[in-house]
Amino acid sequence: MLNMLLLGAPGAGKGTQAERLKKRLKLYHLSTGDILRDAVKKGTTLGKKAKEFMDRGELVPDQIILDMVKEVIEQKVKKDSSLQGFLYDGFPRTIHQAEGLDLMLADRKEQVDVAIYIEVDRDTVLKRISGRRTCSSCGALYNVYFKPPEKEGICDICGAELYTREDDNKKTVINRFDTYIKNTMPLIRYYEEKDKLMRVEGKSTPDEVFEQIIKTLDKRFNIK
Ligand code: AMP
Repeated sequence: MLNMLLLGAPGAGKGTQAERLKKRLKLYHLSTGDILRDAVKKGTTLGKKAKEFMDRGELVPDQIILDMVKEVIEQKVKKDSSLQGFLYDGFPRTIHQAEGLDLMLADRKEQVDVAIYIEVDRDTVLKRISGRRTCSSCGALYNVYFKPPEKEGICDICGAELYTREDDNKKTVINRFDTYIKNTMPLIRYYEEKDKLMRVEGKSTPDEVFEQIIKTLDKRFNIK
């Protein structure tokens, strides 16, 4: 099993790259943000607990996240025997979560193989996030500045309506960015010290960023 992480600020392009990587490498895309949003939408106990943190742009408590991730990994491994590995997106977000993941994987005789860090500056992030739109049906991602749909507000792929994520307003975005700097930046050092970190420059186009990732992965693991 390959265990790959995507690190980077909100709006760095983790979701966009995850879509491509999971297809190319046949990994399961485990996005804690997506799982939480789904739980909020369905009104589950998890969703009710998580919503207040998410609305404020704060992190959901570590133990809730770790229990949730463990359950998803166990379910997927049981269900899909052809699975090549996991692509973690938006997780871990704190050192405590990273240590929890290491323990979880060690129990399965696995480890984090690589942490891909997509680097972007704050201004780019703010512009990207304020323009971000998501399809309410198939989840396709758009941006009114960089990748607009052909018809405003409508998904090119399935024709459903596009929406703006509730936590993508400017105040919450700034808070999410600052939360990221405070809690998530130490992770960069954590994986660097373990020689797992791979840096890519995230300001380029999605295609260019993807090419950079594949090239660096190929050098390191010989996977294309
Ligand atoms: P994202 O879609 O990854 O930007 O996540 C949206 C929101 O969900 C974040 O602002 C947090 O409130 C929450 N969240 C997602 N992943 C995590 C995580 N690993 N740890 C704590 N909170 C998370």
